[in-house]
Amino acid sequence: MILADVQELQAKLEKQAQAEEPDFELVLDLLNRLEALPVTKDILARTKVGKTVQKIKKFDAKNAVRAAKRVIKTWKALVTGASRLAAAPEAIASSTGGSPEASKAEQPTPSNASAAPSERASESSGQAAAAAVRPSTPDSWQELPPKRRTVRRKLSGALQKTGETGDNVYTVAEEIEQAMQELHDFETANSDYQQKFRMLFTNLGSNKALAQEVLRSELKAEELVRMSTNDMLSEEVRRERARVQEMNREAISLDWEQKNRAKIYKDLGIEGGVGQYPCPKCKSKNTSYYLKQTRSADEPMTVFCSCDDCRHRWRING
Ligand SMILES: [Zn+2]
Repeated sequence: MILADVQELQAKLEKQAQAEEPDFELVLDLLNRLEALPVTKDILARTKVGKTVQKIKKFDAKNAVRAAKRVIKTWKALVTGASRLAAAPEAIASSTGGSPEASKAEQPTPSNASAAPSERASESSGQAAAAAVRPSTPDSWQELPPKRRTVRRKLSGALQKTGETGDNVYTVAEEIEQAMQELHDFETANSDYQQKFRMLFTNLGSNKALAQEVLRSELKAEELVRMSTNDMLSEEVRRERARVQEMNREAISLDWEQKNRAKIYKDLGIEGGVGQYPCPKCKSKNTSYYLKQTRSADEPMTVFCSCDDCRHRWRING
């Protein structure tokens, strides 16, 4: 059963995550095996295996960190139903957000860099050592005029006040600065650019909810740079945006489930079928069902039904 396989791999991975000197080869292998399993949202929720994988993102081994990120991305796509939304993969990948402490070690900053991870890195493979000396800002920024580079670095700092310190901070800072630059070219509209920077820097640094929204791509950089301070401060505006976002996610995920139900049932090892129970709401026969043991084993199974036409869901107790 998939659940048991996941739990077994998770236990081994957890052990490595706690280890003084993790075996990076083994970690890679475990991650690859986890990724190959046809997990479901249900299994992810029950095992919380995503949390375990998040811990690997703190490792000083680029390979392992990359593999962990890939696994998380795959699962996020599963959870958010984004596997079909190839058009905006990066938006979805960050929309559900990682745990705030995730991937601290990948980006040493004055506030969180500790001696331990780099010591460990120098003792292990050369690859890990290489990861430890990686600069804290992306290489591509070096080609920018100093002013734009400084703005990006300062915006990263403001975003890091949320507790998030991974690569995503730099990606988002870059997006914001890029959007600023497109709005007010720093060479021809320097004072507008500067003013925009001060305003964004202050708001992002003092308004954690706002910074988190941007980090999760719920608020796009292009929108952010066009907002007034009032817009940024408004709780009401923010709540409404969160609500719409949540509704979209839910709709996407329902849609995905509907389309992949047969596979999900098979993966879960439960029986299912179509058309047996007409929809009590719209009378359609375009329905599906599965059986599940919800009470003790000697009692009949419960039939869970759903209508593909009107999306009505109901259950029949056996
Ligand atoms: Zn119906």
